[in-house]
Amino acid sequence: MRKKIVAGNWKMNTNVKEGVELAKALAGRMSEVPSDVKLIIAPPFTHLTSVADIIKGSGIALSAQNCADQSKGAYTGEVSAAMLASVPVEFCILGHSERRQYYEETNEKLVKKIALALSENINPILCVGENLEERESGKLFDVIGAEIRDVLFTLSPEQMAKVIVAYEPIWAIGTGKTATSDQAEEIHAFIRKTLSEKFGALADEISILYGGSCKPANAKELFAMKDIDGGLIGGAALKADDFIAISQSY
Ligand code: PEP
Repeated sequence: MRKKIVAGNWKMNTNVKEGVELAKALAGRMSEVPSDVKLIIAPPFTHLTSVADIIKGSGIALSAQNCADQSKGAYTGEVSAAMLASVPVEFCILGHSERRQYYEETNEKLVKKIALALSENINPILCVGENLEERESGKLFDVIGAEIRDVLFTLSPEQMAKVIVAYEPIWAIGTGKTATSDQAEEIHAFIRKTLSEKFGALADEISILYGGSCKPANAKELFAMKDIDGGLIGGAALKADDFIAISQSY
């Protein structure tokens, strides 16, 4: 049985006080979250230690939104996987399209980041997805296939078992446009098939999340699809009511 996961990517939103309030609101409502659903929140770096204290014992897991591609040293402004592990952080989003687009996050860098996260026992959430031009020109399978193969095929099966994949069509992120459940399922099934080329039956155990304007109104239809195991949620993760409602959408 694959894990059902609802993960909230807070991006560069909320100050520490607001983030702590949001985490408190979620922790106080965990009895409303189905027991077979894992809730993960990914606040900004500055919030991690305060939020870790708030959610301790609540069942909510903590994620970072990125980590450095070097282990330590003279890399001003960077945050290493080891630093995140010391918070402690259990998960780390890697390869989000905003990082690929604005911060030159290449598959090559992601190979290093994933290895460093795993070496610190942090479970990576690797984001993949196509932009509108790639979808419309039919290149989407090549793009997503390369994002999977170039990064995840470097891992051993033991390492791969710790990874979550998030399919996030770039044209659907923060735009209000959602992939239809059939469009999303087609790519989730493709990702699983691609993973099976290297990892065989293990591909059936990997949770693949959908991300891109997922909200309470469309989560049920998306989560009902065979290869969609939950969501990576942006905007709707900033409202406790919406985030909890999405967790109830299986
Ligand atoms: C995201 O950026 O991971 C995301 C899915 O954002 P949104 O839900 O706001 O589209």
